[in-house]
Amino acid sequence: MTLFEKIIAREIPADIVFEDDRCLAFRDISPQAPVHILLVPKRVIPRVAETTPADAELLGHLIVTAGTIAKSEGIAGFRLVINNGADGGETVPHLHLHLLGGRPMTWPPG
Ligand code: 5GP
Repeated sequence: MTLFEKIIAREIPADIVFEDDRCLAFRDISPQAPVHILLVPKRVIPRVAETTPADAELLGHLIVTAGTIAKSEGIAGFRLVINNGADGGETVPHLHLHLLGGRPMTWPPG
């Protein structure tokens, strides 16, 4: 079971901000911005590199949902990040979107 499956199952507590039948959103334990929310699909996909066309609708749903959450958090400017693989900064092998906002973002990202 991945760490995020344990959060979905309420085995590990988290500050949950949104849930529906397909995904869960909760605040990152180590926030990198005033708003830092993780949005995870309930069906485990390890990472973007292992997605298939069958995942397209779920992935689209995550992005649409991130937009809705950003609105409810009151952040007009925000960034969505998906880390893939060790060099991409991935530490939890359960695909997730980082929703970051509440401060100006810099470019390029580190
Ligand atoms: P990744 O590095 O895989 O893209 O993102 C994993 C994220 O999960 C990190 O930003 C990290 O701070 C967050 N994280 C790790 N453990 C926990 C936890 O137990 N609870 C919460 N809410 N976030 C966690």
